[in-house]
Amino acid sequence: MTSKEAEAKGGHVAQAEQARPVPAAPAQADAVQADAVQAGAVQAGPVQAGVGHTGAGQAGAVQAGAVQEADLAGLYPADRLGLAAAAAARAGIGALLLTPGPDLRYLTGYDALATERLTCLAVPADGPAFLVAPRLELRSVQASPAGGLGLDIMAWDETDDPYRLVADRLGRRGSPGAPGRPEALESVGLADQMWAMMVLRFRDALPGARLRLASPALRGLRIRKTDAEVAALRQAGAAIDRVHGRVPELLRPGRTEREVAADIAGAIIAEGHARADFVIVGSGPNAARPHHEPSRRILAAGDTVVVDIGGTMPSGYRSDCTRTYAIGSPPPEFTAYYQVLQEAQEAACATVRPGVRAEAVDAAAREPITAAGYGDYFVHRTGHGIGLETHEDPYIVSGNTEALVPGMAFSVEPGIYPGPHGARIEDIVVCTPDGGQRLNNVTRELVVVDA
Ligand code: ZN
Ligand code: ZN
Ligand code: ZN
Repeated sequence: MTSKEAEAKGGHVAQAEQARPVPAAPAQADAVQADAVQAGAVQAGPVQAGVGHTGAGQAGAVQAGAVQEADLAGLYPADRLGLAAAAAARAGIGALLLTPGPDLRYLTGYDALATERLTCLAVPADGPAFLVAPRLELRSVQASPAGGLGLDIMAWDETDDPYRLVADRLGRRGSPGAPGRPEALESVGLADQMWAMMVLRFRDALPGARLRLASPALRGLRIRKTDAEVAALRQAGAAIDRVHGRVPELLRPGRTEREVAADIAGAIIAEGHARADFVIVGSGPNAARPHHEPSRRILAAGDTVVVDIGGTMPSGYRSDCTRTYAIGSPPPEFTAYYQVLQEAQEAACATVRPGVRAEAVDAAAREPITAAGYGDYFVHRTGHGIGLETHEDPYIVSGNTEALVPGMAFSVEPGIYPGPHGARIEDIVVCTPDGGQRLNNVTRELVVVDA
Protein backbone atom coordinates (compact mmCIF):
# COMPACT_ATOMS: atom_id res chain seq x y z
CA MET A 1 0.00 0.00 0.00
CA THR A 2 1.23 3.51 -0.63
CA SER A 3 -0.88 6.47 0.53
CA LYS A 4 -4.45 7.53 1.26
CA GLU A 5 -4.60 4.52 3.52
CA ALA A 6 -7.68 5.48 5.50
CA GLU A 7 -9.75 5.61 2.35
CA ALA A 8 -8.34 2.42 0.93
CA LYS A 9 -8.22 0.48 4.18
CA GLY A 10 -11.90 0.89 5.00
CA GLY A 11 -12.80 -0.74 1.73
CA HIS A 12 -10.31 -3.55 2.06
CA VAL A 13 -11.64 -4.27 5.53
CA ALA A 14 -15.15 -4.60 4.14
CA GLN A 15 -13.77 -6.98 1.56
CA ALA A 16 -12.22 -9.19 4.20
CA GLU A 17 -15.39 -9.23 6.23
CA GLN A 18 -17.36 -10.57 3.30
CA ALA A 19 -15.03 -13.49 3.03
CA ARG A 20 -15.54 -15.03 6.45
CA PRO A 21 -17.73 -14.72 9.53
CA VAL A 22 -16.86 -11.95 11.96
CA PRO A 23 -18.89 -10.48 14.82
CA ALA A 24 -21.60 -8.08 13.68
CA ALA A 25 -20.13 -4.66 12.92
CA PRO A 26 -21.30 -1.65 14.89
CA ALA A 27 -23.32 0.94 12.98
CA GLN A 28 -20.31 3.21 12.56
CA ALA A 29 -18.45 2.51 9.34
CA ASP A 30 -15.19 4.22 10.25
CA ALA A 31 -11.88 2.42 10.19
CA VAL A 32 -11.38 2.54 13.96
CA GLN A 33 -14.59 0.67 14.60
CA ALA A 34 -13.81 -1.83 11.90
CA ASP A 35 -10.44 -2.50 13.51
CA ALA A 36 -12.14 -3.03 16.86
CA VAL A 37 -14.35 -5.69 15.36
CA GLN A 38 -11.38 -7.33 13.75
CA ALA A 39 -9.36 -7.34 16.95
CA GLY A 40 -12.19 -9.37 18.47
CA ALA A 41 -12.15 -11.73 15.53
CA VAL A 42 -8.43 -12.28 15.94
CA GLN A 43 -8.83 -13.03 19.62
CA ALA A 44 -11.22 -15.80 18.74
CA GLY A 45 -8.65 -17.16 16.31
CA PRO A 46 -5.72 -19.53 16.50
CA VAL A 47 -3.57 -17.66 19.06
CA GLN A 48 -5.85 -18.31 21.99
CA ALA A 49 -7.65 -21.33 20.61
CA GLY A 50 -5.24 -23.68 22.41
CA VAL A 51 -5.94 -22.25 25.86
CA GLY A 52 -9.23 -23.99 26.47
CA HIS A 53 -8.39 -27.38 24.97
CA THR A 54 -8.22 -30.03 27.68
CA GLY A 55 -9.84 -33.15 26.19
CA ALA A 56 -7.64 -36.15 25.40
CA GLY A 57 -8.69 -35.96 21.77
CA GLN A 58 -7.25 -32.46 21.61
CA ALA A 59 -3.64 -33.44 22.28
CA GLY A 60 -2.57 -32.25 18.84
CA ALA A 61 -4.28 -28.93 19.31
CA VAL A 62 -2.75 -28.44 22.76
CA GLN A 63 0.70 -29.18 21.38
CA ALA A 64 0.22 -26.75 18.50
CA GLY A 65 -1.00 -24.12 20.95
CA ALA A 66 2.00 -24.68 23.22
CA VAL A 67 4.42 -24.31 20.33
CA GLN A 68 2.69 -21.12 19.32
CA GLU A 69 2.87 -19.72 22.84
CA ALA A 70 6.57 -20.52 23.05
CA ASP A 71 7.09 -18.59 19.81
CA LEU A 72 5.07 -15.70 21.19
CA ALA A 73 7.22 -15.56 24.32
CA GLY A 74 10.23 -14.80 22.12
CA LEU A 75 8.21 -12.38 20.04
CA TYR A 76 7.01 -10.33 23.02
CA PRO A 77 9.92 -10.43 25.53
CA ALA A 78 9.31 -9.34 29.12
CA ASP A 79 12.03 -6.67 29.14
CA ARG A 80 10.11 -4.29 26.88
CA LEU A 81 8.27 -2.53 29.73
CA GLY A 82 11.61 -1.52 31.23
CA LEU A 83 12.96 -0.42 27.86
CA ALA A 84 9.81 1.65 27.27
CA ALA A 85 10.11 3.34 30.69
CA ALA A 86 13.72 4.25 29.94
CA ALA A 87 12.75 5.52 26.50
CA ALA A 88 9.99 7.67 28.04
CA ALA A 89 12.51 9.14 30.49
CA ARG A 90 14.90 9.94 27.62
CA ALA A 91 12.07 11.62 25.70
CA GLY A 92 11.13 13.68 28.76
CA ILE A 93 7.72 12.01 29.06
CA GLY A 94 6.43 11.33 32.59
CA ALA A 95 4.32 8.32 31.64
CA LEU A 96 3.12 6.51 28.54
CA LEU A 97 -0.62 5.81 28.34
CA LEU A 98 -1.34 3.09 25.79
CA THR A 99 -4.85 2.01 24.83
CA PRO A 100 -5.52 -1.06 22.60
CA GLY A 101 -3.38 -0.95 19.48
CA PRO A 102 0.10 -1.74 18.20
CA ASP A 103 2.02 -0.07 21.05
CA LEU A 104 0.12 -1.97 23.75
CA ARG A 105 0.58 -5.23 21.88
CA TYR A 106 4.27 -4.53 21.25
CA LEU A 107 4.97 -4.00 24.96
CA THR A 108 2.82 -6.81 26.41
CA GLY A 109 1.73 -9.21 23.64
CA TYR A 110 -1.88 -8.42 24.58
CA ASP A 111 -4.09 -8.05 21.49
CA ALA A 112 -6.66 -6.04 23.42
CA LEU A 113 -10.20 -5.43 22.29
CA ALA A 114 -10.70 -1.75 21.43
CA THR A 115 -14.03 -0.61 22.83
CA GLU A 116 -15.43 2.42 24.62
CA ARG A 117 -14.52 0.79 27.96
CA LEU A 118 -11.00 1.89 28.87
CA THR A 119 -8.16 -0.61 28.71
CA CYS A 120 -4.89 1.23 29.31
CA LEU A 121 -1.30 0.24 29.93
CA ALA A 122 0.45 2.96 31.91
CA VAL A 123 4.25 3.02 31.79
CA PRO A 124 5.65 5.66 34.17
CA ALA A 125 9.20 6.76 33.44
CA ASP A 126 10.05 6.34 37.12
CA GLY A 127 7.92 3.53 38.49
CA PRO A 128 6.38 0.14 37.75
CA ALA A 129 3.99 -0.21 34.81
CA PHE A 130 0.37 -1.17 35.45
CA LEU A 131 -2.62 -2.16 33.33
CA VAL A 132 -6.15 -0.90 33.88
CA ALA A 133 -8.86 -3.05 32.27
CA PRO A 134 -12.62 -3.59 32.51
CA ARG A 135 -13.35 -6.48 34.86
CA LEU A 136 -15.08 -8.39 32.06
CA GLU A 137 -11.81 -8.37 30.05
CA LEU A 138 -9.73 -9.59 33.00
CA ARG A 139 -9.63 -13.22 31.90
CA SER A 140 -8.52 -12.23 28.39
CA VAL A 141 -5.71 -10.13 29.85
CA GLN A 142 -4.54 -12.93 32.12
CA ALA A 143 -4.68 -15.50 29.31
CA SER A 144 -2.58 -13.26 27.06
CA PRO A 145 1.23 -12.90 27.30
CA ALA A 146 0.53 -9.79 29.44
CA GLY A 147 -0.65 -12.15 32.20
CA GLY A 148 2.89 -13.52 32.57
CA LEU A 149 4.71 -10.21 32.89
CA GLY A 150 4.21 -9.71 36.63
CA LEU A 151 2.34 -6.57 35.70
CA ASP A 152 -0.07 -5.04 38.25
CA ILE A 153 -3.47 -5.50 36.61
CA MET A 154 -6.24 -3.29 37.99
CA ALA A 155 -9.78 -4.29 37.06
CA TRP A 156 -12.49 -1.65 37.11
CA ASP A 157 -16.22 -2.16 37.53
CA GLU A 158 -19.00 -0.67 35.43
CA THR A 159 -19.63 2.24 37.82
CA ASP A 160 -15.94 3.13 38.37
CA ASP A 161 -14.15 6.00 36.63
CA PRO A 162 -11.14 4.25 35.06
CA TYR A 163 -9.52 7.57 34.06
CA ARG A 164 -9.55 8.64 37.72
CA LEU A 165 -8.06 5.23 38.58
CA VAL A 166 -5.13 5.81 36.18
CA ALA A 167 -4.59 9.40 37.37
CA ASP A 168 -4.64 8.46 41.08
CA ARG A 169 -2.25 5.58 40.58
CA LEU A 170 0.12 7.77 38.54
CA GLY A 171 0.12 10.24 41.43
CA ARG A 172 1.52 7.48 43.65
CA ARG A 173 4.09 6.21 41.15
CA GLY A 174 7.55 5.40 42.41
CA SER A 175 6.23 4.86 45.93
CA PRO A 176 3.52 2.24 45.62
CA GLY A 177 1.30 2.21 48.70
CA ALA A 178 2.79 5.38 50.13
CA PRO A 179 -0.05 7.90 50.25
CA GLY A 180 0.27 11.64 50.57
CA ARG A 181 3.14 12.16 48.15
CA PRO A 182 1.33 12.88 44.92
CA GLU A 183 3.83 14.18 42.44
CA ALA A 184 2.31 16.02 39.48
CA LEU A 185 3.15 14.66 36.05
CA GLU A 186 4.41 17.34 33.70
CA SER A 187 3.56 15.34 30.61
CA VAL A 188 2.07 12.08 29.41
CA GLY A 189 2.65 10.33 26.07
CA LEU A 190 -0.56 9.01 24.53
CA ALA A 191 -0.74 6.15 22.02
CA ASP A 192 -0.80 7.79 18.58
CA GLN A 193 -4.05 6.06 17.72
CA MET A 194 -5.90 6.63 21.00
CA TRP A 195 -9.58 7.49 20.48
CA ALA A 196 -10.39 11.21 20.88
CA MET A 197 -12.99 10.46 23.59
CA MET A 198 -10.24 8.88 25.68
CA VAL A 199 -7.76 11.69 24.98
CA LEU A 200 -10.25 14.24 26.29
CA ARG A 201 -11.11 12.15 29.37
CA PHE A 202 -7.38 11.86 30.19
CA ARG A 203 -6.99 15.63 29.65
CA ASP A 204 -9.67 16.21 32.29
CA ALA A 205 -8.28 13.60 34.70
CA LEU A 206 -4.70 14.91 34.43
CA PRO A 207 -5.21 18.70 34.29
CA GLY A 208 -1.57 19.59 34.96
CA ALA A 209 -0.04 17.28 32.39
CA ARG A 210 0.87 18.27 28.85
CA LEU A 211 -0.51 15.74 26.38
CA ARG A 212 2.10 14.43 23.97
CA LEU A 213 2.42 11.46 21.65
CA ALA A 214 4.00 8.21 22.80
CA SER A 215 5.73 7.62 19.46
CA PRO A 216 8.82 9.79 20.14
CA ALA A 217 9.59 7.35 22.98
CA LEU A 218 8.53 4.10 21.30
CA ARG A 219 9.53 4.54 17.65
CA GLY A 220 13.19 3.83 18.39
CA LEU A 221 12.23 0.45 19.89
CA ARG A 222 9.64 -0.61 17.32
CA ILE A 223 11.69 0.45 14.28
CA ARG A 224 14.44 -2.12 14.98
CA LYS A 225 12.93 -5.56 14.66
CA THR A 226 14.35 -8.37 16.80
CA ASP A 227 15.28 -11.69 15.22
CA ALA A 228 11.94 -13.08 16.42
CA GLU A 229 10.08 -10.20 14.79
CA VAL A 230 11.97 -10.67 11.51
CA ALA A 231 11.08 -14.38 11.69
CA ALA A 232 7.41 -13.44 12.17
CA LEU A 233 7.58 -11.06 9.18
CA ARG A 234 9.28 -13.79 7.15
CA GLN A 235 6.39 -16.15 7.95
CA ALA A 236 3.95 -13.45 6.87
CA GLY A 237 5.92 -12.92 3.65
CA ALA A 238 5.92 -16.63 2.84
CA ALA A 239 2.17 -16.82 3.49
CA ILE A 240 1.34 -13.93 1.14
CA ASP A 241 3.74 -15.36 -1.46
CA ARG A 242 1.63 -18.54 -1.43
CA VAL A 243 -1.48 -16.45 -2.01
CA HIS A 244 0.17 -14.79 -5.04
CA GLY A 245 0.98 -18.28 -6.24
CA ARG A 246 -2.78 -18.92 -6.41
CA VAL A 247 -3.71 -15.62 -8.09
CA PRO A 248 -3.14 -16.70 -11.73
CA GLU A 249 -5.86 -19.36 -11.49
CA LEU A 250 -8.30 -16.75 -10.13
CA LEU A 251 -7.70 -14.17 -12.88
CA ARG A 252 -10.11 -15.44 -15.53
CA PRO A 253 -11.65 -13.28 -18.27
CA GLY A 254 -15.35 -12.76 -17.49
CA ARG A 255 -14.92 -12.54 -13.70
CA THR A 256 -15.27 -9.22 -11.87
CA GLU A 257 -12.52 -7.64 -9.78
CA ARG A 258 -14.74 -8.14 -6.72
CA GLU A 259 -15.17 -11.85 -7.35
CA VAL A 260 -11.42 -12.24 -7.66
CA ALA A 261 -10.83 -10.08 -4.55
CA ALA A 262 -13.25 -12.17 -2.46
CA ASP A 263 -11.41 -15.35 -3.45
CA ILE A 264 -8.07 -13.75 -2.63
CA ALA A 265 -9.35 -12.67 0.81
CA GLY A 266 -10.30 -16.29 1.45
CA ALA A 267 -6.88 -17.47 0.29
CA ILE A 268 -5.16 -14.99 2.61
CA ILE A 269 -6.89 -16.70 5.55
CA ALA A 270 -6.37 -20.20 4.13
CA GLU A 271 -2.63 -19.59 3.83
CA GLY A 272 -2.23 -18.82 7.53
CA HIS A 273 -3.25 -15.24 8.22
CA ALA A 274 -5.66 -14.48 11.07
CA ARG A 275 -7.16 -11.67 9.03
CA ALA A 276 -7.17 -10.21 5.51
CA ASP A 277 -6.34 -6.51 5.84
CA PHE A 278 -6.71 -5.31 2.23
CA VAL A 279 -7.14 -6.68 -1.27
CA ILE A 280 -6.46 -4.40 -4.23
CA VAL A 281 -7.34 -5.84 -7.65
CA GLY A 282 -6.95 -3.11 -10.29
CA SER A 283 -7.56 -4.31 -13.84
CA GLY A 284 -7.28 -2.53 -17.19
CA PRO A 285 -7.51 1.26 -16.64
CA ASN A 286 -7.96 0.62 -12.91
CA ALA A 287 -4.38 -0.69 -12.77
CA ALA A 288 -3.30 2.93 -13.18
CA ARG A 289 -4.95 3.87 -9.85
CA PRO A 290 -2.58 2.78 -7.05
CA HIS A 291 -5.31 2.35 -4.40
CA HIS A 292 -8.17 1.26 -6.59
CA GLU A 293 -11.12 -0.43 -4.84
CA PRO A 294 -12.14 -3.75 -6.39
CA SER A 295 -15.12 -2.96 -8.63
CA ARG A 296 -17.67 -4.70 -10.82
CA ARG A 297 -15.36 -4.29 -13.81
CA ILE A 298 -15.13 -7.53 -15.77
CA LEU A 299 -11.65 -8.83 -16.53
CA ALA A 300 -10.88 -9.07 -20.25
CA ALA A 301 -8.11 -10.20 -22.59
CA GLY A 302 -5.37 -7.57 -22.87
CA ASP A 303 -5.82 -6.33 -19.28
CA THR A 304 -2.92 -5.84 -16.94
CA VAL A 305 -3.92 -6.38 -13.30
CA VAL A 306 -2.21 -4.93 -10.22
CA VAL A 307 -2.80 -7.20 -7.20
CA ASP A 308 -1.68 -5.65 -3.87
CA ILE A 309 -2.64 -7.77 -0.87
CA GLY A 310 -1.85 -8.20 2.81
CA GLY A 311 -3.04 -9.55 6.11
CA THR A 312 -2.23 -10.01 9.78
CA MET A 313 -0.74 -13.28 11.03
CA PRO A 314 -1.75 -14.83 14.39
CA SER A 315 1.58 -13.43 15.67
CA GLY A 316 0.30 -9.89 15.02
CA TYR A 317 2.85 -9.28 12.25
CA ARG A 318 1.72 -8.28 8.77
CA SER A 319 2.21 -9.02 5.12
CA ASP A 320 2.04 -6.67 2.12
CA CYS A 321 3.02 -7.72 -1.41
CA THR A 322 2.18 -6.51 -4.92
CA ARG A 323 2.53 -8.32 -8.21
CA THR A 324 1.28 -7.31 -11.65
CA TYR A 325 -0.35 -9.83 -13.97
CA ALA A 326 -1.43 -9.76 -17.63
CA ILE A 327 -4.42 -11.54 -19.14
CA GLY A 328 -3.16 -12.61 -22.54
CA SER A 329 -0.63 -10.44 -24.37
CA PRO A 330 -0.21 -7.01 -22.75
CA PRO A 331 0.07 -3.83 -24.86
CA PRO A 332 3.64 -3.42 -26.25
CA GLU A 333 4.24 -0.11 -24.46
CA PHE A 334 3.36 -1.85 -21.18
CA THR A 335 5.99 -4.51 -21.73
CA ALA A 336 8.59 -1.76 -22.24
CA TYR A 337 7.94 0.03 -18.94
CA TYR A 338 7.40 -3.17 -16.94
CA GLN A 339 11.04 -3.97 -17.73
CA VAL A 340 12.06 -0.52 -16.41
CA LEU A 341 9.98 -1.06 -13.27
CA GLN A 342 11.56 -4.43 -12.56
CA GLU A 343 15.05 -2.94 -12.86
CA ALA A 344 14.11 0.01 -10.64
CA GLN A 345 12.72 -2.26 -7.92
CA GLU A 346 15.83 -4.43 -8.12
CA ALA A 347 18.12 -1.38 -7.91
CA ALA A 348 16.29 -0.02 -4.86
CA CYS A 349 16.48 -3.37 -3.04
CA ALA A 350 20.19 -3.61 -3.85
CA THR A 351 20.76 -0.18 -2.22
CA VAL A 352 19.59 -1.37 1.19
CA ARG A 353 22.36 -1.68 3.78
CA PRO A 354 23.15 -0.14 7.18
CA GLY A 355 24.09 3.55 7.01
CA VAL A 356 22.25 4.28 3.75
CA ARG A 357 19.63 6.99 4.11
CA ALA A 358 16.00 6.00 3.65
CA GLU A 359 15.64 8.64 0.92
CA ALA A 360 18.52 7.06 -1.00
CA VAL A 361 16.43 3.90 -1.47
CA ASP A 362 13.62 6.06 -2.85
CA ALA A 363 16.08 7.79 -5.20
CA ALA A 364 17.47 4.45 -6.38
CA ALA A 365 13.99 3.39 -7.46
CA ARG A 366 13.11 6.76 -8.99
CA GLU A 367 16.24 7.39 -11.06
CA PRO A 368 15.88 4.61 -13.65
CA ILE A 369 12.15 5.31 -13.98
CA THR A 370 12.82 9.01 -14.54
CA ALA A 371 15.67 8.30 -16.95
CA ALA A 372 13.33 6.14 -19.05
CA GLY A 373 10.80 8.99 -19.22
CA TYR A 374 8.20 7.62 -16.78
CA GLY A 375 9.09 9.80 -13.77
CA ASP A 376 5.77 11.66 -13.81
CA TYR A 377 3.92 8.34 -13.59
CA PHE A 378 5.63 7.20 -10.36
CA VAL A 379 3.24 9.13 -8.13
CA HIS A 380 3.95 7.80 -4.63
CA ARG A 381 6.81 7.22 -2.21
CA THR A 382 8.84 4.05 -2.63
CA GLY A 383 7.87 2.37 0.63
CA HIS A 384 6.86 2.21 4.27
CA GLY A 385 7.95 0.33 7.37
CA ILE A 386 5.93 -2.73 8.40
CA GLY A 387 5.53 -4.75 11.58
CA LEU A 388 2.51 -4.77 13.91
CA GLU A 389 1.12 -2.12 11.53
CA THR A 390 1.07 -2.23 7.74
CA HIS A 391 2.39 1.32 7.58
CA GLU A 392 4.86 2.48 10.23
CA ASP A 393 8.36 3.97 10.44
CA PRO A 394 10.63 4.14 8.53
CA TYR A 395 9.08 5.74 5.44
CA ILE A 396 11.11 5.33 2.26
CA VAL A 397 10.56 8.79 0.86
CA SER A 398 12.49 11.81 -0.38
CA GLY A 399 13.37 14.00 2.62
CA ASN A 400 13.78 11.14 5.11
CA THR A 401 17.48 11.35 5.91
CA GLU A 402 17.33 8.69 8.65
CA ALA A 403 20.06 6.09 8.20
CA LEU A 404 19.00 2.47 7.83
CA VAL A 405 20.02 0.13 10.66
CA PRO A 406 19.88 -3.66 10.91
CA GLY A 407 16.39 -4.80 11.86
CA MET A 408 14.47 -2.18 9.91
CA ALA A 409 11.80 -3.76 7.73
CA PHE A 410 9.98 -1.88 4.98
CA SER A 411 8.38 -2.18 1.56
CA VAL A 412 10.11 -1.36 -1.71
CA GLU A 413 7.23 -0.77 -4.10
CA PRO A 414 7.82 1.49 -7.09
CA GLY A 415 5.00 1.80 -9.63
CA ILE A 416 4.44 3.24 -13.10
CA TYR A 417 0.90 4.35 -13.94
CA PRO A 418 0.68 6.04 -17.34
CA GLY A 419 -2.83 4.71 -18.07
CA PRO A 420 -4.80 3.10 -19.52
CA HIS A 421 -2.76 0.50 -17.66
CA GLY A 422 -0.19 0.45 -14.90
CA ALA A 423 2.16 -1.71 -12.84
CA ARG A 424 3.66 -2.00 -9.36
CA ILE A 425 6.10 -4.48 -7.82
CA GLU A 426 6.32 -4.65 -4.02
CA ASP A 427 8.49 -6.68 -1.67
CA ILE A 428 9.13 -6.39 2.05
CA VAL A 429 12.86 -5.98 2.64
CA VAL A 430 14.71 -6.27 5.94
CA CYS A 431 18.00 -4.46 6.52
CA THR A 432 20.65 -6.88 7.81
CA PRO A 433 24.30 -6.14 8.69
CA ASP A 434 25.20 -7.47 5.21
CA GLY A 435 22.55 -5.64 3.20
CA GLY A 436 18.92 -5.99 2.27
CA GLN A 437 17.09 -9.30 2.40
CA ARG A 438 13.75 -9.75 0.69
CA LEU A 439 10.96 -11.45 2.62
CA ASN A 440 8.89 -11.95 -0.56
CA ASN A 441 10.29 -14.31 -3.14
CA VAL A 442 7.42 -15.11 -5.52
CA THR A 443 8.47 -14.32 -9.10
CA ARG A 444 8.71 -10.66 -10.11
CA GLU A 445 8.54 -11.51 -13.82
CA LEU A 446 5.28 -10.48 -15.46
CA VAL A 447 2.94 -13.47 -15.05
CA VAL A 448 0.81 -13.82 -18.19
CA VAL A 449 -2.35 -15.91 -17.71
CA ASP A 450 -4.41 -17.40 -20.53
CA ALA A 451 -6.97 -15.05 -22.03
ZN1 ZN B 1 -0.46 1.34 -0.23
ZN1 ZN C 1 0.98 -3.12 -0.82
ZN1 ZN D 1 2.93 -1.45 0.85
